[in-house]
Amino acid sequence: MLKLAQRNSTAAILTQTKQLVSIVFRTITSGNFEVETPLNFINGRRKNCLQTTTQSFTVEEPATGKTLCRMHESGIEDVNKAVNAAQQAQHDWGEMSGFERSKVLQKCAHLLKEKQEDVARLEVFDTGKPIWEARGDVQTAVDALEYFSGIASTLCGQHFTLPGGSFGYTRREPLGVVAAIGAWNFPIQMAGWKSAPALACGNAVVFKPSEFTPLTAVMLGEIYKEAGLPDGLYNVVQGGGQTGNLLSSHPDIAKVTFTGSVTTGSKVMKTCAGGIKAVTLELGGKSPLILFDDCDITNAVNGALLANYLTQGQVCSNGTRVFIQENIFSDVISRLVNRVKAIKYGDPHCEKTLMGAMINKKHAEKVLGFISRAKQQGAEVLCGGKQIVPDNPILHGGSYISPCIIKPSDDMEISLEEVFGPVMNVYSFRSEEEVLKRANDSQFGLASGIFTKDLNRAHRVAAKIQAGSCYINNYNIYPIEMPFGGYKKSGIGRENGMITLEYFTQLKTVYVEGGNVDCPY
Ligand code: NAD
Repeated sequence: MLKLAQRNSTAAILTQTKQLVSIVFRTITSGNFEVETPLNFINGRRKNCLQTTTQSFTVEEPATGKTLCRMHESGIEDVNKAVNAAQQAQHDWGEMSGFERSKVLQKCAHLLKEKQEDVARLEVFDTGKPIWEARGDVQTAVDALEYFSGIASTLCGQHFTLPGGSFGYTRREPLGVVAAIGAWNFPIQMAGWKSAPALACGNAVVFKPSEFTPLTAVMLGEIYKEAGLPDGLYNVVQGGGQTGNLLSSHPDIAKVTFTGSVTTGSKVMKTCAGGIKAVTLELGGKSPLILFDDCDITNAVNGALLANYLTQGQVCSNGTRVFIQENIFSDVISRLVNRVKAIKYGDPHCEKTLMGAMINKKHAEKVLGFISRAKQQGAEVLCGGKQIVPDNPILHGGSYISPCIIKPSDDMEISLEEVFGPVMNVYSFRSEEEVLKRANDSQFGLASGIFTKDLNRAHRVAAKIQAGSCYINNYNIYPIEMPFGGYKKSGIGRENGMITLEYFTQLKTVYVEGGNVDCPY
């Protein structure tokens, strides 16, 4: 259970019982606690890092800039321990039937749902995103557990009838130990989206969350344990790039599922190439959203907002390049600017807050740098894009940026690179042909969106757009049944949907002879 050191007077009442953790989470606001318990989770237990010679670091709470926890980066001994525990546990788990595994994972789903509020509160401390969003993120992890537990028992191969009474069949078998490495923007969702299918397919998992968001992955481990998942099947090692590299290069890791930037994804892929390991990469994006002049403008404006400002704009699939047909351009822009100016920002624990804090100061400065360079290059800022200081003094150590709409040209840096902040680029276009060309002119291909009432056109454009997903008349919706992943530099492989089973299993072909062996020697 989490051990929290309270900074205010409510500290005295805090014990380590589950019930009180729930109560305290519901009454505190940002800046109120520091986690003191170890944050590696190996073989069903929290563990301190074995190696204290590795780099130590402090994790800051994004909303306040105050210390959230301190830890050492996990070294080779910690990674070995986690991988060994996973290997041992995977043996029996992989031999169970899918239905048996399904029953355990269903319990995990129920328990996570029961603790949704506590996990969501912790996610807010970890990420700075508003509580209403964090609740949704926990739900997506619950969905993954429910969905993949449901299909665990359907894992099966094919049967082949062959000449002379011979036959063959295929078996879908687990890979072994899967390393899962996550980014900081959706920590609990990533822990759920990666571990649920991996476990359903009979694998064990060693998860490394981002060094900026270490908490909820550990809480998930405790929930799994309480729900009855055998020790060792889900482990967490904390640390940054070095730990990630130790994990992905570990000889006993069979596969790496990675979410993060293109630069790191490329390094992970190289590491995996060395060991001929399977790898799934969920990387960055610069997705186009096209608003045709026959669209329902209210829905289109809502879609553009959803496409840009969730999690302070730090969302891989965001439709950050919004192309608006020229005869509705000024109407859409004035509506967008009014709506964006009204977005409430501040303490992410507050129910009314719509936008919280950027993950950290360094990242906020990077986002502001993109805006400032775009302005120097001649882009027009239509609103926001400034560092803001919330009224509440507790939040002064956090980094907040007012949601921005900017009008750049296609060739500016801000149109080409992933900004990963609350910045919507807007462009005017004339024809379908022209906008398709401009939309596809990107190194990325994660997502895309179209708003139009002409469904023929919607499907025609969806077919031609170079992206792993395309939303027609909505944006940033992730049903667990539907595969998610990128084209081009946005990644390799898919998460969610039935296809995921292929990424967490290997196929064995069995040939059965029905006659004698015909041999020429
Ligand atoms: P990042 O690439 O800096 O880090 C991602 C993870 O990789 C972290 O856990 C980090 O510690 C680890 N890491 C760093 N170096 C490593 C190495 N050499 N070997 C192994 N692991 C290493 O990314 P970030 O800043 O945490 O996340 C933001 C990026 O993630 C954005 O580009 C965003 O678009 C992308 N993202 C993609 C998706 C998707 O599903 N496509 C989802 C969320 C975020």
